[in-house]
Amino acid sequence: MHDVIIIGAGPAGLSTARWCDELGLDTLLLEQSENIGGQLHQIFNPINNYLGLEAANGEELLQTFNRQLVNSEFDQWTGTAIESVDLRAKRISLASGEQLQAIAIVIATGVRRRELGIPGEKEFAGKGLITSGSRDRNLFSGQDVCVIGGGDAAAENALLLAEVCPTVTLVHRGKKLRARREFAEQLQPNHAITVFTESEVTRIIGENHVEAVEIRRKEGLKPFQLAVRGVLIRIGVEPNVELFSNQVELDEHGYIKTNREQETNMPFVFAVGDVSNPQSPTISTATGGGATAAKVIGSRLARGSR
Ligand SMILES: Cc1cc2nc3c(=O)[nH]c(=O)nc-3n(C[C@H](O)[C@H](O)[C@H](O)COP(=O)(O)OP(=O)(O)OC[C@H]3O[C@@H](n4cnc5c(N)ncnc54)[C@H](O)[C@@H]3O)c2cc1C
Repeated sequence: MHDVIIIGAGPAGLSTARWCDELGLDTLLLEQSENIGGQLHQIFNPINNYLGLEAANGEELLQTFNRQLVNSEFDQWTGTAIESVDLRAKRISLASGEQLQAIAIVIATGVRRRELGIPGEKEFAGKGLITSGSRDRNLFSGQDVCVIGGGDAAAENALLLAEVCPTVTLVHRGKKLRARREFAEQLQPNHAITVFTESEVTRIIGENHVEAVEIRRKEGLKPFQLAVRGVLIRIGVEPNVELFSNQVELDEHGYIKTNREQETNMPFVFAVGDVSNPQSPTISTATGGGATAAKVIGSRLARGSR
């Protein structure tokens, strides 16, 4: 029996674990992948909005986190697959067959990139699918590329790629881009960038590498092919809630609802970070939420309430 089991070791889970440890709680942190850090592994741009710390990228920030965690005493299990979670009983069954039990559970499972679900999306991984504009743009220098999406991430990546690619075609399903003004205003005067709104990429085409995308402009019109060597997909994210979705209350977009103490509608079940915070998915909010959950759990256990 642990005091707290935290699921997910991104910034939110790590902060929760650090604070639980400081409060003397018996804490276990479970992470499905082999490495802790969550989305920090996908950040290749400088991080200068996490007040108090500057980092050249997510890996560098993670190194600082690791230095701060090295003397912590919480247990951390990476590469751990969870089979099921019974939030009412606070019981977790691992794929290995092991059963774990806690007084409190903290869900810190974050979000994942939404997939398009079109032919070619999986097949061309590593063969023309661009995972990050800032990291991969030199690989695609001098080549025509397509960016799919209409939000901040799509616009920012289109601008980054336009610095080295002769043409960048931005394809967005909606009538208007959702990107913030700072990005949207830079797109139009950029001669390398063409924006197709009310359009969809329906297929990624090629032999051993991406050679073209099939685009349908407006419902009913015949699709056409555009020759490109690279495709970057940024159509938003979705919360990792499959283990909990029929047990805790979710909002209309599938994010876990919490109160100001980060507690869900189930007593002693907390949710922190991006999985419960579509309004401000940031490192500061994730680490702050972790501190809140840990403090609340710590003070309740100190009072002997369960
Ligand atoms: C390209 C990019 C740039 C960004 N730039 C910034 C920036 O400049 N400033 C900023 O503040 N934020 C930035 N962010 C956002 C920031 O990274 C996130 O807000 C933050 O990582 C959220 O932390 P989290 O712990 O809630 O979730 P995540 O980082 O998503 O971590 C969740 C963890 O839970 C694990 N997990 C999921 N499901 C399970 C399961 N079933 N069992 C066990 N483990 C599980 C995942 O493997 C992952 O390790 C950026 C994000 C991206 C992608």
